[in-house]
Amino acid sequence: MPLPDGTIYLDHAATTPTDPAVLERMLPYFSERFGNASSVYRLGRQSLDALDAAHEAVADALGCRPTEIIFTGGGSEADNLAIKGIASAQRRRGNHIITSAIEHHAVLHTCHQLEREGYRVTYLPVSADGLVDPAAVEAAITDETALVTLMYVNNEIGTIQPIAAIGAICHARRVPFHTDAVQAGGLLDLDVRTLHVDLLSLSSHKFYGPKGVGILYVRQGARIQPQMLGGSQERNRRAGTENVPGIVGAAEALTHARAERASESARLAALRDRLVAGILQLSGARLTGHPSQRLPNHASFVLPGVEGESLLLNLDLLGIAASSGSACSSGAVEPSHVLTAIGLSASEARGHLRLTLGHSTTEDDVTFVLEHLPPIVERLRALSTRPTSITSGA
Ligand SMILES: *Cc1c(COP(=O)(O)O)cnc(C)c1O
Repeated sequence: MPLPDGTIYLDHAATTPTDPAVLERMLPYFSERFGNASSVYRLGRQSLDALDAAHEAVADALGCRPTEIIFTGGGSEADNLAIKGIASAQRRRGNHIITSAIEHHAVLHTCHQLEREGYRVTYLPVSADGLVDPAAVEAAITDETALVTLMYVNNEIGTIQPIAAIGAICHARRVPFHTDAVQAGGLLDLDVRTLHVDLLSLSSHKFYGPKGVGILYVRQGARIQPQMLGGSQERNRRAGTENVPGIVGAAEALTHARAERASESARLAALRDRLVAGILQLSGARLTGHPSQRLPNHASFVLPGVEGESLLLNLDLLGIAASSGSACSSGAVEPSHVLTAIGLSASEARGHLRLTLGHSTTEDDVTFVLEHLPPIVERLRALSTRPTSITSGA
C-alpha cells in the first residue's frame, strides 16, 4: 500500500515510520507529563514510573531483568557503549577483540578506534552467503580476548548469523559476547538466554518506534565502563536526562513487534519470496546473502550491468523507495565493505539492489515492482552498452 504521499516504501532496513499507536502513547510525555524523572514531586514520579514500565516491557521481550536494560540515544550509541564499555572494563584481562568483516559501521569504526588505542582486533571473514563460521570464532579466541562482537542480521544482505551457537562457544570460553541485533529487532527472537549473549543492541526506529532511541542489554555481572558521564541516570551507566517520550515509544514498539512477530514474519516472507522469484527472472540476476537463513522481509540482489545509483533514481521516479549497498555509504564511490567481503567484484557490487518490506507492503506493491523493474533494468543495460560516439572518435 503506497504511503499517503504515494511512495511505495521498500527500505524498512534503513528506517520505519513510527506506528500511530506508538506515537499516541508518546505524546503525553512531550506535554502534560514533561517532568524530569529525577525530580521528587509528582510530575517527576510520573516520568520515573513511565521509565520503570519501559524497562520492564523491554526486559519482558528480551527475557532479562529490567535492571539489565540501558536506554541510549540510538543503535549506534548502544554499539559504542557495549564495545568501548566492555573493552575498557576488561582491559586488564586482555586487549583482543573479535568481530567480522561485515559489521555495521557503528561497530567497525568503533573497533578501528580501539585499534588506534592499542587493542588488537580480529576481523573474521564470511562465506559467500555472508555467514561467520562458529569454528572460526572458537579458533580466534585467545586468553587475551576481551570481547566478541558479531551482528545478528546483516543490514545489506539480510543473512542471519548462528548467534546462539557462537554465544555458547563464547560462554564456554568465558568471553563476553555482544550482538548488534538492530536488524533483528522487529522480526526475530530476542531472548538473551537462548541466544547466549551478554550484550545486545537494538534501535527503536528499525521496528516502528521513534528515531534516536537505542536499547542496550547488559547481563548482570558484566562490567561496562560508562562512555557518557554526568548524572546517575540508567544506574550510572549512561548519563543524561532520559528521553522519556522516546523511551516510552521504544518499549511500546518492541511490545507490538513481539506480539505480531510470527504473523508478520510469515506474511512478509511470502511477499518477499514472490518478489525474489520475480526478480531472479531477470537475466544474470543473483540473490545476495543466504538463500534461507535470512531476515523474512529482506530481498537483495546483484543485477549485472546496472548502476545501483541510476537504478534507485529511476525507481524513485516511479515512487519506489529502495536502496543499494548500505544507506550510510550510498553517495560514496567505493563498493560497500559487506559486498566486498562476500566476494563480489567492485563492478558486481555496483549493481546491488536491496528491497526490504514492512507493515505497509502489500501484494499490489510487489506486483507494481515486478511490472516496472524489468523495463528499467533493460533500459539501463542498453544505455551502458551503447557505444558512445563522443569517445569512439571515428
Ligand atoms: C541502523 C543500524 C544501526 C544504527 O542504529 P541507529 O539507531 O540508526 O544509530 C546499527 N546496526 C545496524 C545493523 C543497523 O542496521
